[in-house]
Amino acid sequence: MARREIEYMLQAESVIKQYRQPESVITAVNRANIKIEKGEFVAIIGSSGSGKSTFLHICAGLDKANAGRILIDNEEITKMGPDELGRFRGEKMGFIYQRHNLVPQFTALENILLPTVMCNKADASYQESLRELVECLGLSERLHHLPSELSGGQCQRVAIARALINNPQMLFADEPTGNLDRKNADEVLSLLLKIRETRGQTLLMVTHDLAIAEQADRIFRMDNGILKLERDYIGGNKKTVDTF
Ligand code: ADP
Ligand code: MG
Repeated sequence: MARREIEYMLQAESVIKQYRQPESVITAVNRANIKIEKGEFVAIIGSSGSGKSTFLHICAGLDKANAGRILIDNEEITKMGPDELGRFRGEKMGFIYQRHNLVPQFTALENILLPTVMCNKADASYQESLRELVECLGLSERLHHLPSELSGGQCQRVAIARALINNPQMLFADEPTGNLDRKNADEVLSLLLKIRETRGQTLLMVTHDLAIAEQADRIFRMDNGILKLERDYIGGNKKTVDTF
């Protein structure tokens, strides 16, 4: 079997996050390690309050750890200053929240294009991405509506388009369908996974929906701040060959 280097998209090493309370210290993330290969879909499951969101935010550079390192595409984001990190995040990473977090005063289209404004992208470079996303997510009739005029499922599809408009290589999703009913959740998730597949993006998703986690290449469990592999690659799911 040919040996080939594993290319990692995300590497988290010994990540610790503590919240100091007047009387105690909460260790939300306790020496978490993970390595995610390019193109992989990894799910993190675990009970509420176990540290999943905290860990995801740290991996995406949205929150600072007390200790540990995060590398995205071999660049150490934990060393970057705010400006450099902001630029890097805009180019490489997309984040989908449980609540869509759309700007209420902006139309669907304005919300979707927000990351392109921040990244100073030229028109041409996102037009194709926009066309593809709007079509795939079924948003063409809704582009000029405000979030308050859209259903929960539609808002979340706008949020997905916003996270993907710059075509980031690394996608994070924190219970992206947690606020939707089963039918909408399944629909939104299958659209997200379909787009991810065509674009070859790496996905790290927090979910407490086992039916969703089952679709991932690997599943990790967060338990009281400790991250453990729950299910490794099964039945030929693994995309790359170990070199060691
Ligand atoms: P999960 O996403 O798995 O539900 P979180 O990462 O949101 O868990 O929270 C992990 C732990 O850290 C919880 O005990 C939570 O109360 C605590 N926590 C999260 N954010 C803060 C904060 N800003 N201040 C204090 N404690 C926090
Ligand atoms: Mg959470």
